[in-house]
Amino acid sequence: MANLKLIKKNRQALPGNAPLDCALCSRLVEFRNANQQKFPDFFNGPVPAFGASDAELLIVGLAPGLKGANRTGRPFTGDYAGDLLYPTLLKFDFVEGSYDARIDDGLEMKKAIITNAVRCVPPQNKTTSEEESNCRPFLIEQIEKLPTIKIILALGGVAHKAVLSTYGEKKSAFKFAHNQMHTLSNGLMLIDSYHCSRYNTNTKRLTTEMFEDVFHSIKGCLK
Ligand code: URA
Repeated sequence: MANLKLIKKNRQALPGNAPLDCALCSRLVEFRNANQQKFPDFFNGPVPAFGASDAELLIVGLAPGLKGANRTGRPFTGDYAGDLLYPTLLKFDFVEGSYDARIDDGLEMKKAIITNAVRCVPPQNKTTSEEESNCRPFLIEQIEKLPTIKIILALGGVAHKAVLSTYGEKKSAFKFAHNQMHTLSNGLMLIDSYHCSRYNTNTKRLTTEMFEDVFHSIKGCLK
């Protein structure tokens, strides 16, 4: 059964979360309703961000995985992508505790927040551009209300575009590239990484070393 008490605690800890009954995207609502029937023990809702309100690093993923974050109610938790992300965060001192793919594993974020460009699980892990823009106000609110953020890590092209749109930046001025650091017009840093998805790691588009290189860059920027 999804741990609604902890999901509520995470929801209340940070601004910019979508309402639990968010109805902005008809396709995602339809999918959510179908999943509620099929997997009644899953969270099946817009997954709230997870992290520390004094964060300097904001990590933006794509969207919850059906049987991972959509089940547990915490970004990347129980998803294959979390098996690389959370140990890397541990290694680079952005989390405390140990990751056990459960929302009640006691893990605490340190000066970092994880969120998603789209907060609800999409069919086949693919979001539409309409869903990405429908969900953007939540990201905008999150960023605006978290003034300690210095650097944003975009995991994949959708997250990269979502961050640029949030700041009204021209896409052509900031091309997505792995481990590329960009300085946005307001001085905030944006760094890109290939998404730590199973597909990207299986195909070696992204190796552990490449992912850690990104975190070395982040640490260098936060010094
Ligand atoms: N789980 C998430 O929460 N986000 C992703 O982008 C992938 C898996």
